[in-house]
Amino acid sequence: MENLRYPNLETYRRTLFSPEDDHLKGIMPAAVEKGVPKISVSAESGKILEIGALAGYSGTWLARSLPADGTFLTLEYEPRHAEIARANYAKAGIQAQAEVRVGKALDLLPGVAGDAPFDLCFIDADKGNYPHYLDYALKYVRKGGLIVADNADAHGNGHKVLDDGNDARGIQVYNERVSADPRLVSVIVPYGGWLAVSLVV
Ligand code: SAH
Ligand code: MG
Repeated sequence: MENLRYPNLETYRRTLFSPEDDHLKGIMPAAVEKGVPKISVSAESGKILEIGALAGYSGTWLARSLPADGTFLTLEYEPRHAEIARANYAKAGIQAQAEVRVGKALDLLPGVAGDAPFDLCFIDADKGNYPHYLDYALKYVRKGGLIVADNADAHGNGHKVLDDGNDARGIQVYNERVSADPRLVSVIVPYGGWLAVSLVV
């Protein structure tokens, strides 16, 4: 038998690089009990304009990484998700820094111009609109900032032929654009559903 320092590799990585406190640990189990789908990022992704709040899990990671005078703005279509996210930001003590705007992101984004520039835009809402969200992110994120998109593996379908009606097709288009756009240097961080991480240069 080998001697183990941690139960497995995953626990080793998480313990060092993304330890969850009790609040973060509890967000998704409590939200799932209320019927919210279990589609938050994994613990590594979160650390600021967000598109798609769900229960506030990724937002709690992101907003906690901010300095005291930093701000976090998230756009969420489902009023119920927005309400749960707000409650979770309050529990995390970041309610003063975290604002949730409710509506379709594409309707809200033109009004976000006044809040720009952002250091980071995290894209994680409806997948078909990822290319449109990228257009806004390119306008709103400063040089040296990051544009990050979750689920860049297109739910395991990135390598397949997808027709334009398929939501995952939006992610393929997104990846093709960020990998080739001369304004960006992009890598895939292959945690869970993959993060596409683009530095604005
Ligand atoms: N970022 C979250 C998970 C987001 S799941 C986390 O990792 O913790 C995707 C969210 O996007 C859902 O809450 C869904 O209601 C929201 N959404 C779907 N379509 C949207 C749209 N058009 N505009 C804004 N939000 C949308
Ligand atoms: Mg996601």
